[in-house]
Amino acid sequence: MVSESTSTAEDTASEPNPAHESALATARHQLAEAASIIDIDPNIVERLNHPAAVHEVTVPLKRDDGTVQMYQGFRAQHDSVRGPYKGGLRYHPDVSREECIGLSMWMTWKCAVMDIPFGGAKGGIVVDPKDLSDAETERLTRRFANEIRNIIGPMTDIPAPDMGTGAQTMAWIMDAYSVQESQTTPGVVTGKPPVIGGSKGREEAPGRSVAIVSREVLEYYDNPLEDATVAVQGFGSVGANAARLLDDWGATVVAVSDVNGAAYDPEGLDTRSIPSHDEEPEAVTTYADETISNEAIFELDVDLLVPAAVGNVITEDNVDDVQADLIVEGANGPTTFTADSILDDRGVRVIPDILANAGGVTVSYFEWLQDINRRAWSRERVNEELETEMLAAWEAVRREVETRDVSWRDGAYIVALSRIADAHEYRGLWP
Ligand code: GLU
Repeated sequence: MVSESTSTAEDTASEPNPAHESALATARHQLAEAASIIDIDPNIVERLNHPAAVHEVTVPLKRDDGTVQMYQGFRAQHDSVRGPYKGGLRYHPDVSREECIGLSMWMTWKCAVMDIPFGGAKGGIVVDPKDLSDAETERLTRRFANEIRNIIGPMTDIPAPDMGTGAQTMAWIMDAYSVQESQTTPGVVTGKPPVIGGSKGREEAPGRSVAIVSREVLEYYDNPLEDATVAVQGFGSVGANAARLLDDWGATVVAVSDVNGAAYDPEGLDTRSIPSHDEEPEAVTTYADETISNEAIFELDVDLLVPAAVGNVITEDNVDDVQADLIVEGANGPTTFTADSILDDRGVRVIPDILANAGGVTVSYFEWLQDINRRAWSRERVNEELETEMLAAWEAVRREVETRDVSWRDGAYIVALSRIADAHEYRGLWP
């Protein structure tokens, strides 16, 4: 059963505990800061401070041993002024109502900074996927899809993969939805396997956009990729694809990590000989001659640090140890608001998640177009159009950074917020 609520005091972010700031607290601080720089109607800011709706469902799962276990699921829909809600579904023990709201806000800004016609959403199930068999994951996913069926759809809200979910998860959701609707509806989710309407290049896209943005920003600061040293925290889809592309394009990737620690080689790692999480989970350190700890990767004196795992990893507790000159955020929300201000004061440039990893949702948009038109694009076309979109967004953000003398995060927020505020202004408020 879907229960709905608009935001109330309970999702109002409290003052941040810097090291453990929630995604929602960070998202609200960032919104307030960006809104204070530009001339934007405070009523629109107030509106954007809250989600349009948060759906909460309870999902029963019959375990393999025959017992029934209940799981909590969410879908936060933040803003749809520019198009259908869009954003991932995560399966993780830390999923919460608050986290989904914060992440849904970031999706609204991400789609706007890329100028793609979607709003923002995020959802998930409070579950550790490692505790489930494949058959259990399939049953849980299909039942969850059914519980949220009335609030998703190709023209209303389009889920995608996120932490703990992937192409197979999306295939099950697409199938469950299609069976219930009595018609094959590929456009209800993105990030599907290409054989059922997924886009070529979608899996690689967030990592590719991180690599493209890294290349541009390094060049901007007169430090070409071929001369740059890079450390990548997290070797899942985003981290591994970013590290490998940067390696291919000539950068020296000195460290990559997973939960067990980091592989380290000051001369540069062969990133393709280290298995990504999908290829062999949590195996990065077993393939390394030299390893360093998970804390130490943040302290490396590299030109570029890419946090590409979970949120809240650069906090007030470790920010003073960060030696990198430049941070490109591969994960969503890796830097707390407080840590971000400290980095800014120290002159460390941070390229925000809403620009850097936006390749994922951009190729999701390409996938949705392919699904609606029933016409697949080649991988070359996907990568070319992604490059074009990333460079256009990069230019728009760069202009704001230069003309207003603001941080890269504020620049990206200004681009996004201006577009969203204009759309709200034109459409107006239903009385
Ligand atoms: N989960 C991804 C993100 O955070 C992709 C969302 C999408 O493709 O809709 O950007």
